[in-house]
Amino acid sequence: MKRTFDKKESWSHKERKARQDESLASMVKLGYKKSPALKKILDANNINPRKIKCREDLESLPVTSREKLVEMEMRQTPYAGLENPDVQIDRIFTSPGPVYEPHLSEADVLWARAFFAAGIGPKDIALNAFSYHLVAAGLTFHSGLRRVGATVVPSGTSSSQVQVQLIKDLKVTAYVGTPSFLAAIIEKAKEMGFDFKKDFNLKKACFAAEPLFPDMRRSFEEEYGIDTYQMYGATEVGDVAYECSQKNGWHICEETIVEIVDPATGKNVAPGQLGEIVVTRLNDIFFLLRFGTGDLSRIITDECKCGRTSFRLAGIAGRIGDAVKVRGMFIAPSQLKMIQAKFNNLPLQALVSRVSNDDVLKVKVEKIAHEIGSAAWEEKFKTIFREVCTVRIDQLEYLNTGTIKPDDKLIVDGRKY
Ligand SMILES: [Zn+2]
Repeated sequence: MKRTFDKKESWSHKERKARQDESLASMVKLGYKKSPALKKILDANNINPRKIKCREDLESLPVTSREKLVEMEMRQTPYAGLENPDVQIDRIFTSPGPVYEPHLSEADVLWARAFFAAGIGPKDIALNAFSYHLVAAGLTFHSGLRRVGATVVPSGTSSSQVQVQLIKDLKVTAYVGTPSFLAAIIEKAKEMGFDFKKDFNLKKACFAAEPLFPDMRRSFEEEYGIDTYQMYGATEVGDVAYECSQKNGWHICEETIVEIVDPATGKNVAPGQLGEIVVTRLNDIFFLLRFGTGDLSRIITDECKCGRTSFRLAGIAGRIGDAVKVRGMFIAPSQLKMIQAKFNNLPLQALVSRVSNDDVLKVKVEKIAHEIGSAAWEEKFKTIFREVCTVRIDQLEYLNTGTIKPDDKLIVDGRKY
């Protein structure tokens, strides 16, 4: 049985890098010739397009955020001059801004690897509950589903009642949409008197556009018998990463160069550290280099048991504005939540201050259990904290139960700038 969608997914690291570097170099050369906007960016940074030969060379270019792209497109409607005028565009999407994308070709395998990794194939009838109206989601997920041979029900944003009817009448086996909408559909089915697990055939779900919280995932999988998968992408750059059956990180797509950078400098952080996801989609239509997603993640380089060789993203840790940097490394509220979950929802708060020229990280925790504060507990807590946040705690303070209010920030930056 085929284990991956295509051969690219099992390329050696060396082969993948060589091929991606080659595509990147030709994309930059072509873009410099065809796109006046890219030429302007490279010229302004004194970059000879022939000098961009590999992913490491991208660091010399600025990161373009969505806000910046909107600004550029407003100045030069519709595509900020980043498009290739010689290519016939298959379709144009929009996202809030408005920002316009001359989308990747319909021949692209967009999302197909993600659906294959989720076990979706010709035997499936998939309900695609993403909007087909103007935005990229509906149509691009639709094409990916068709690529793996699934039959698609393009239900889009129909009401949850209509979705329940379709799931029942058409014996739908897979759901594609947001997790919150699936939860609403399940609720509606209950209201309509159905037992979702027994009465329906829906056994797989692929989610995007929203975080899948652990409690929600557990409920879908355990209570309703639905195997769940996460996908990650952006209209500007297409599919970026997807989860495999191991559910331990999201494989980075083959046509995508992902960098994890420090948003303040645009430079890559050390492997394994938290930073902003910056994406370059290798293509010859839209020359958007280094798109800054604003999302935080880190790279997992360990081998995955599924057989795919690409590096993985460790989910999304939050948005760049929410994270606080300590000794050069980011701590995101989501990481602190992960620690809380490991310690029985322990109320805690991290404070960063500066003493002389050093950052000091103090963590306050409530003494909600007898063992909290013992040497053994302290050691365990500090070790797990370091594992999750990659930053060492300098001071640990114990507070009485109820001192930290539910609305208090998880991380407070007390440094003066
Ligand atoms: Zn895998």
